[in-house]
Amino acid sequence: MAETILRVEMLVKNFGGVKAVRDLSFEVSAGEILGLIGPNGSGKSTTVNVLAGLIPPTSGSIRLGPHSIENLPETERVAKGLARTFQTARVFPEFSVRRHVTMGCHTIRRSNPFASVLPLGFSSREDAETARHVDDVLQLCSLAQIADRPVGSISSAQQRFLMIATALASKPRILLVDEPAAGLVEHERQSLAELIRGIRQRGIAVVIIEHHMALIMALCDRIVVLNFGSKIAEGSPAEIRANPAVIDAYLGEAA
Ligand code: ADP
Ligand code: MG
Repeated sequence: MAETILRVEMLVKNFGGVKAVRDLSFEVSAGEILGLIGPNGSGKSTTVNVLAGLIPPTSGSIRLGPHSIENLPETERVAKGLARTFQTARVFPEFSVRRHVTMGCHTIRRSNPFASVLPLGFSSREDAETARHVDDVLQLCSLAQIADRPVGSISSAQQRFLMIATALASKPRILLVDEPAAGLVEHERQSLAELIRGIRQRGIAVVIIEHHMALIMALCDRIVVLNFGSKIAEGSPAEIRANPAVIDAYLGEAA
């Protein structure tokens, strides 16, 4: 059996009277691609934000490998192997693609990564091993050809890939990606699927939130379905596609 990387138990997140996440439990294994789906407002982004440490849970436990992480700040979760991308691309337009990815190896992240990512003198301290790792990530994410371009000059699809590359720079064991395919056209979605499979091939687990059902069904090993903050189903893509509760709550409208 594959090693469990992430174990979420009885997670709850309330915003005042809004119960955004209710008693949510699930696990993610090493090298697994887990889909997190559900209607708008069902608690997907909140779940990712709580897992990543952007906002504290109301209650519940989160284990990353052997570590209890629910009380750790975001930076320490990144250091322990959990990385995430945001639903919308956040970039430094004047940085080169390579510099942006390198920053992912050397950052202090606070609640707002756009305002508070602090590069720690990487231009002078960038050692050969870091450079090799960054090259490897650029290659994996199909960004090697445009590594020297300013981030502000690349396409929005390329910026999406850059967000993933920057997250991968921290050498995660698990990567959380929130709606990576939003706004992408078919061939870009195909490239994204290839990239996520490539990430899995390196033994990194991926939790993906996505509304594009063909992509989710083709990509995921397992899917967890949320509705009003609660898990209403969990299973293989075939099981989820045939689940009456899921069709009722979500797939009926998405299909
Ligand atoms: P999803 O990503 O599945 O569309 P979200 O996790 O963004 O859903 O939202 C889940 C619920 O929590 C929604 O009712 C949303 O309005 C609410 N919510 C999310 N973030 C906040 C916040 N910061 N403050 C108050 N309510 C929030
Ligand atoms: Mg969302």
